[in-house]
Amino acid sequence: MNPTVSSPKPTTVRFAPSPTGRIHIGNARTALLNYLFACRFHGSFILRFDDTDIERSKEAFAQSISVDLQWLGINPDKVVRQSERFALYDEAADNLRASGRLYPCFESADELDRKRKRQQARGLPPVYDRSALNLTETEKAALLAEGKKPHWRFKLDDKTVEWQDLIRGSCHVELASLSDPVLIRADGSYLYTLPSVVDDIDLAISHVIRGEDHVTNAAVQIQIFEALGGPGCVPQFAHHNLLTTASGEGLSKRSGALSLTALREAGIEPLAIAALAVLTGSSDAVRPITSMRELQDLLDLSHISRNAARFDEVELAHLSARTLHQLPYADVAARLHEMGLVEGPCDLQAFWLAVRSNLNILNDAKIWWAVITQPIQPLIEDPDYIAATVPLLPAEPWNHETWAQWTSAIKTATGRKGRALFHPLRLALTGHEHGPELASLLPLIGRATAMARLSAPAA
Ligand code: GLU
Repeated sequence: MNPTVSSPKPTTVRFAPSPTGRIHIGNARTALLNYLFACRFHGSFILRFDDTDIERSKEAFAQSISVDLQWLGINPDKVVRQSERFALYDEAADNLRASGRLYPCFESADELDRKRKRQQARGLPPVYDRSALNLTETEKAALLAEGKKPHWRFKLDDKTVEWQDLIRGSCHVELASLSDPVLIRADGSYLYTLPSVVDDIDLAISHVIRGEDHVTNAAVQIQIFEALGGPGCVPQFAHHNLLTTASGEGLSKRSGALSLTALREAGIEPLAIAALAVLTGSSDAVRPITSMRELQDLLDLSHISRNAARFDEVELAHLSARTLHQLPYADVAARLHEMGLVEGPCDLQAFWLAVRSNLNILNDAKIWWAVITQPIQPLIEDPDYIAATVPLLPAEPWNHETWAQWTSAIKTATGRKGRALFHPLRLALTGHEHGPELASLLPLIGRATAMARLSAPAA
């Protein structure tokens, strides 16, 4: 079990998407790992919209992310929006300026590019040379007077940052290999780096669980945490591998087909997405689950592998079907009602238990509901045989044994067995070539309807 999960703060985690698109199954992995971690350690889960980029962030995407998370079974304890918290970031930036950690730079993008090319030509790493630190107050004032707008860089210490990552183990990043990061652009807008740290401190985040594309950011952010709040405010980090497609391609908010919205519309079960998103790329086998609680009990960050987490869309569809096949009636009743399947024409629980193992997606239940509750076109391929079965229909009440009683009487009377005995009955009673076990369907169809279907004229 996560032995290193000892933090002086109460467990508080956050999922921090930018509302610039629909979230995909890879984002779901991050959201779920955070959520299940919070549940497991009786902590809280914050949904934080990283919407400082006012141009690209859209309220409609924030809404769709909330809907997608709710559908997955994730209910945040709190929702915050960075766009409402600029005062905190301004205050933090002022503090960093006052302590000399945030300094103005005036190079244009072209100048920086030329510098990098010169460094590369000389075989040097393209690290920012900090020449802005050599500007005198008079030079800076002159540049400002010319109308130049500075961007602001954070001065990294010249050291190695080390941390114990809950997934990747011992990590270290040589800060000398990094450029001092720009925290504020020339137009005054914040890059993600500083607001994230300010919020993590303000919201007392104990664990930052996110994709491994943020490992280098962690080193920089640890420095900012320490500069703003001292070493005690640095959370524990856990950087997980990223889900890729079976062919190894990364997912992006643009990969629409794997957005949670598209998967929901395709009828994929949320529990299948949760199982696949959490268990892929871990030492636990991907398997169907029947509740988030089951996944929560399985969660162990140390089981997450450092290798790529490849998943297969075809596997997702299979997993979704296998998930449905195990779902107890109580967990699906409300959704059946919403689909218009209601108690009355037959016992809905018995219906569910009869048909669930034949479904690929929940909506397929409607096919069998229609077979049971609506008129169908029986397929009478062998009228004489079918006619001979009618007088053998057992008397009511009917139950799960009725099918065996009836077919054994038919076998005795006609000498038929196997497919020749069963298949014409299936066609006549359901109008379908395949389907759920007739032992379960027959009592739901009922004697009067069965009799009428068997007596229908051959088409
Ligand atoms: N908005 C960032 C992202 O989506 C959050 C990263 C983090 O969790 O710190 O990548």
